[in-house]
Amino acid sequence: MPPFDVPEGDPFGPHNLPYGVFSPAGSADSPAGSGSSPAGSGERTVGVRLGDHVLDAGAAARALGSPYEALLAQPTLNPLLAAGRTAWSDVRRALTAWVTVPSHREAIEPLLRPLSEVTLHLPFEVADYVDFYASENHARNVGQIFRPDAADTLTPNWKHLPIGYHGRSGTVVVSGTEVIRPSGQRKAPADDAPSFGPSIRLDIEAEVGFVIGAPSAMGTSVPLSAFRDHVFGLCLLNDWSARDIQAWEYVPLGPFLGKSFATSVSAWITPLDALEDARVAPPSRTHPLLPYLDDASEDPAGYDLRISVAINGRTVAEPPFSTMYWTAAQQLTHMTVNGASLRTGDLYGSGTVSGPTERERGSLLELTWNGRDTLDLPDGKRTFLEDGDEVTITAWAPGPGGTRVGLGEVSGRVVPKS
Ligand code: CA
Repeated sequence: MPPFDVPEGDPFGPHNLPYGVFSPAGSADSPAGSGSSPAGSGERTVGVRLGDHVLDAGAAARALGSPYEALLAQPTLNPLLAAGRTAWSDVRRALTAWVTVPSHREAIEPLLRPLSEVTLHLPFEVADYVDFYASENHARNVGQIFRPDAADTLTPNWKHLPIGYHGRSGTVVVSGTEVIRPSGQRKAPADDAPSFGPSIRLDIEAEVGFVIGAPSAMGTSVPLSAFRDHVFGLCLLNDWSARDIQAWEYVPLGPFLGKSFATSVSAWITPLDALEDARVAPPSRTHPLLPYLDDASEDPAGYDLRISVAINGRTVAEPPFSTMYWTAAQQLTHMTVNGASLRTGDLYGSGTVSGPTERERGSLLELTWNGRDTLDLPDGKRTFLEDGDEVTITAWAPGPGGTRVGLGEVSGRVVPKS
């Protein structure tokens, strides 16, 4: 079947058109693990996914005499990200025409490559990285596990502001990159002293990542209403977490080496414009919000994303993103309310996505209740991850006319430190 004829109902049809960066498979610039520094790599260029093909977007712009060649014939998405909301909509409108209008077919079809013949790279240069903690179910589960005697499983601030921390952008890697098991200090409550060695409680956190396009000036704040002016799109994100290292180090300043060794993101960035039909209101608020976070009169900024987590091919959880208490718009506003600036390429994670039922939990910490229970995998039982385990997170969202919008997967395999 010619690639222009994407099968009806394909979650990567012309209603989706996520952006990535690719090079020909087997070219010199194609190690699967290369992710952190896309600059200066000659063969990388922006691609747009259509079905199981990728369109060389810069070459398409050139072939059709489009003014967007300068934004698309690039080794990263950063120039497009920096161009801002009007340009994002204009480019998307042009791309939609290129892959749907029959008169373009002759020019476009030779520029579509099968996904099996390309290598996908980290699609943008990650500037700053922040991770939030926006799922009430996740926060309550963690509270019950780690603070069983506390009067409230939520910390006193939780319903008043989106809690977050600044992470390490230099270790954000693209889907498919192997994750080397981290080493560090760990000390179980019963141990007399800490010991050093490979983490024995390596975990995942299934999250959604939001990618900043347009920057903001230091000393200014981004209101809720400007969310779509600054956020280009979203990706799937796995916040790999070493629970033993984390538990010993995180009081009182929060996550550090238990998180900073690797964060994986999907190779495809789905533009917000592709997710209009997935917008939903967040859960009803149980506490009054300060005016800068009060979204009662704003357009819905929640997203109905149906996430699936698989380990070694077996689905172990299906966390619903629509249950997140804090929206990405509120997180953006809170992140800048003190005057902190945004940079093109900033990435912020939603926090672990966990729904109300046991099957909807987005971490092994919750799925096994901190190792008390086990998960059945094709090759045996698990509490936390073993070397060789491969974790794959996928998702889809409702699209126009009953279609589905597929989000690109994020996967990674755990390997021992050599
Ligand atoms: Ca996290």
